[in-house]
Amino acid sequence: MHETGRLGQWGKAALVTLVAFGVLAIATASAAADGLIVRARPGDGSGMQVDAALLSPQPAASGLAATGAPTYVVQPGDTLSAIAARAGLDVAALMAWNSLQDPDRLAVGQTLKTGGSVASRPVLNLPADGALTGVQIWPWPPEQGQTVAVWLHARAPITFTAQLDAAAYPVIGQGRHGWTLIPIPPLTPPGLHRLVLAAGEQRLVVQVPIQPGAFSQINIPAAVADPILAQPAQVQADLTRVTALWTVFGADGWTTRSRFRLPLVGDYPRTSPYGTRRTYGSDPALSAHAGEDFSAAPGTPVYAPADGTVVLAELMFVRGNAVLIDHGHGVFTGYWHLSKLDVQAGQHVTAGQRLGAVGSTGLSTGAHLHWELRIAGMAVDPLQWVGP
Ligand SMILES: [Zn+2]
Repeated sequence: MHETGRLGQWGKAALVTLVAFGVLAIATASAAADGLIVRARPGDGSGMQVDAALLSPQPAASGLAATGAPTYVVQPGDTLSAIAARAGLDVAALMAWNSLQDPDRLAVGQTLKTGGSVASRPVLNLPADGALTGVQIWPWPPEQGQTVAVWLHARAPITFTAQLDAAAYPVIGQGRHGWTLIPIPPLTPPGLHRLVLAAGEQRLVVQVPIQPGAFSQINIPAAVADPILAQPAQVQADLTRVTALWTVFGADGWTTRSRFRLPLVGDYPRTSPYGTRRTYGSDPALSAHAGEDFSAAPGTPVYAPADGTVVLAELMFVRGNAVLIDHGHGVFTGYWHLSKLDVQAGQHVTAGQRLGAVGSTGLSTGAHLHWELRIAGMAVDPLQWVGP
């Protein structure tokens, strides 16, 4: 299946502008494995206490390797303040970036992330007297198709909100800490997008430089495209049915505390990667593949990647035998074209539980599993969520 939309200019922007309480800080930012860190100075001890490992979307191994944040190896006689000064960072920022607890405990030979230049440092400061003590945005900068996780920390219990462009995303909050997931659809125009984070009366505006993803483009031949294009009412009925389900922000909350597994066990060719740009037949409209297609023999078992509740398990026109799982916090995964369904709507499933088997039901030209992940109804790259 696909998402329709307009492909914007693939401009590469790296300017980050932060406006908080009239304080304007401008920095250029490049990729950093820890994301963008904004913290109040001086640190009040509340810092970055939320463990990123609690959330599933984490960098793919290749993404981490590709960031290549410049580092510094501690030499005899070095102090953290001297290293920070040479790197153009303040000590609190250097400590936060490296998860250091004590500035006086440096070991000779220890490797510190220093960001080679001011242009690549990901740490910016908040006013010391505001409600917010820390914000972490990961990954930074995000790419088309990714899930962005945002953690918010405040001095005292407070209400948080988050909005990217015109869309608001619910913040799960517990007193002084909150977090949210923001989907970046694959056809989002690259360039600066406005993220507004708020804690009570304090607003933090972050210009997020969304980067173009690396997607190929294919044409779906008329023989495959025509049955889809010829039945717009049936296609729309399918879409209406699933959209009504995956746009619900479940009351169950977040059901998973670990990285996702792949839905197939073993190595299967990825025959149509997530985000692939598609045109159908002679129709020039550009869309993006909403999921990841794995080629596998009919009958290959399909497993739940994480805990959740099955909200749909039925035969559909386009998607064939389809399963949709609600993982909580607006996160859903879908499994299409199955030959067999092993679960029912309403059933709770745990990671690794069998959902059904690979098939070619619905509008499909051969046995494969189409796997997709949606947040607030928007399809994002499911592989970003998969752990080793
Ligand atoms: Zn597909």
